[in-house]
Amino acid sequence: MESIETDIVIIGAGPVGIFTAFQAGMLDMRCRIIDILNQAGGQCTALYPEKPIYDIPGYPVITAQKLIERLMEQASPFEPVYHLSQRVEKIADNGDQSFTVITSTGIEVKCKAVIIAAGNGVFEPNRPPLGGILEYENKSVFYSVNKISDFQDRTIVIAGGGNSAADWTIELSRIAKKIYMIHRRKEFRCTPETRNKLESLESNGKIELVVPYQLHELAGNNGRLSAVIVKNIVSKEEKEIPADFLLPFFGLSMNLGPISNWNIQLEHSHIVVDPTTLKTSRNRIYAIGDIATYSGKLKLILNGFAESAMACYDIYKVIYNSPVNFQYSTSKGIKGKESE
Ligand SMILES: Cc1cc2nc3c(=O)[nH]c(=O)nc-3n(C[C@H](O)[C@H](O)[C@H](O)COP(=O)(O)OP(=O)(O)OC[C@H]3O[C@@H](n4cnc5c(N)ncnc54)[C@H](O)[C@@H]3O)c2cc1C
Repeated sequence: MESIETDIVIIGAGPVGIFTAFQAGMLDMRCRIIDILNQAGGQCTALYPEKPIYDIPGYPVITAQKLIERLMEQASPFEPVYHLSQRVEKIADNGDQSFTVITSTGIEVKCKAVIIAAGNGVFEPNRPPLGGILEYENKSVFYSVNKISDFQDRTIVIAGGGNSAADWTIELSRIAKKIYMIHRRKEFRCTPETRNKLESLESNGKIELVVPYQLHELAGNNGRLSAVIVKNIVSKEEKEIPADFLLPFFGLSMNLGPISNWNIQLEHSHIVVDPTTLKTSRNRIYAIGDIATYSGKLKLILNGFAESAMACYDIYKVIYNSPVNFQYSTSKGIKGKESE
């Protein structure tokens, strides 16, 4: 089990969590950022990467993904460490003004304060309602692709009709033995170019589009898949498709997850904070961004940025028992950026 020490643990690598790494760095505090997703960016990256945002100060227009890239670049001089693909399960109070934050992969981070920037909660893939699917998850059923080479020369069933399903079918067709793409309808929710690419891959036998079908049953042993049984939406006919892996891409949903067990005051699935400090009902635990609520709260990225600064200043005061020696960024500067 890995054991780490830092000043602040930030729960959530959305835009507000990432900006907090910059703010903490400006006050010479180290931080670790933890997110259940396999990439940073929160809602911006997971839900609307290509959409333009018009209300970020200084950017008349910027796509959501570009904003995340710029935020990560801005935080990078402070070398924040991202622990991705894991959920924060527990914040244990060590009784000595410190916490140990424990994640689902067993990482333990000891810290002096915690900032919860958890948005609308944990992002989780929508799981298809198939009997026994839990037994197969992370062995032969995956909701994201971490290592493409794991799929080399294997038979893969990809389910879904959106961009993720279509893009991964195209990408993995370069190395897989065969891909079956299952979708309930003949129409796909992807660009016409992507649809054309799927058709051309089908005509040269690299993939097979199985429509209008839906997943019906899994066959295999000890978490190892041997086949996926699919059912025709119209005729109800069933057929068995050989499979080493199943990749269902049915989108993501959000839920509060373990936050409700952290003994923090909640109101309608949000964390109640003091708007002047962003403190929660637990000492040294703060909440900012979409997850935080107070009278007059605006759920906007720019608001989250301001909350991040206020929380970091308060944490500094609490940790060092002294107010920040205030300096504008123009006076303080950032290492390595002096000449820019
Ligand atoms: C379609 C769309 C358009 C939008 N347009 C705008 C706009 O134009 N302007 C604007 O200001 N806002 C816009 N928003 C809202 C904006 O995206 C949110 O306000 C912003 O993402 C909130 O940032 P955040 O960092 O607080 O949370 P999020 O972006 O939600 O990130 C929170 C992260 O925390 C993670 N997390 C939660 N719990 C845990 C846990 N226990 N362990 C590990 N990880 C956890 C989640 O997986 C997630 O990645 C839009 C939203 C949508 C959906």
